[in-house]
Amino acid sequence: MPELPEVENVGRALRDCLRGKRLDGLQVNYGGVLKPSPRQVRSALVGKRLAEVNRHGKYLILDFIGDPNEDRNEDHAYLMIHLRMTGQFFILDDYIADQHVHLIFDFEGRPVHYRDVRKFGRLELVEDPIRPAAIAHVGPDMLSVRLPEWRERIGHRKAPIKALLLDQKIAAGLGNIYVDESLFLARVHPLARPCDLTPTQLKEVLKRARQVLRLAINHGGTTFMNFTDFHGRPGNFRRKLRVYGRAGQKCRDCSATLEGVRVGGRSSVFCPHCQPNPAR
Ligand SMILES: [Zn+2]
Repeated sequence: MPELPEVENVGRALRDCLRGKRLDGLQVNYGGVLKPSPRQVRSALVGKRLAEVNRHGKYLILDFIGDPNEDRNEDHAYLMIHLRMTGQFFILDDYIADQHVHLIFDFEGRPVHYRDVRKFGRLELVEDPIRPAAIAHVGPDMLSVRLPEWRERIGHRKAPIKALLLDQKIAAGLGNIYVDESLFLARVHPLARPCDLTPTQLKEVLKRARQVLRLAINHGGTTFMNFTDFHGRPGNFRRKLRVYGRAGQKCRDCSATLEGVRVGGRSSVFCPHCQPNPAR
């Protein structure tokens, strides 16, 4: 499943390759991924240029702009993209037939394929380029939330910190892999309750979460599409994982055996020595 680093890299690729280019056409093979309808999406976007690509958590919002009208008002349309489980973009030199390609955007002759094996992804017209109503329930972005706000949102909570970090209503963008890595670096046990942590520990969790996300972004995320064909190659961040997926193996810092625990239905891996359980 694409997480914040993958989504950020998709956004950067779309911005780098397509900003300023005009959308000349939109071929729809399967309209179920478009909201409100293929006809409405096509009529809102075709003829406009891609002006900017924004990201909030795991959502991308494409800002399209039309030619200035007589009143010199700028005519914008915004397309919000949530890749969900298997949504992918491929910016190709040619059209490629594939049963999982549901949309092909034509940017001045450059075909941009939207491929989604599970069809859970959504591309939806929204009214705002930063924080549309459709994601009003989603908390501030993990990379930009300020420490006082983050403390306010999480500091008094009594649920396990692992579950709260995964809760996109508190802050958006952390998935399972990155939560485990962040808690390890912050030396905080996944079952610890934020209300029991010191202000310094809470600050450390946020700092480490950002560090992990930035590192993953710079390494192309844990999976990475090379945008030349449908065969993604694995991002090289996976090699850098300290705890995720390593239960039973040795801690890279202290050589203790890493343990697994389920928190809120999700598997978690931690080091019992580096991240002591506050309840014991
Ligand atoms: Zn350790």
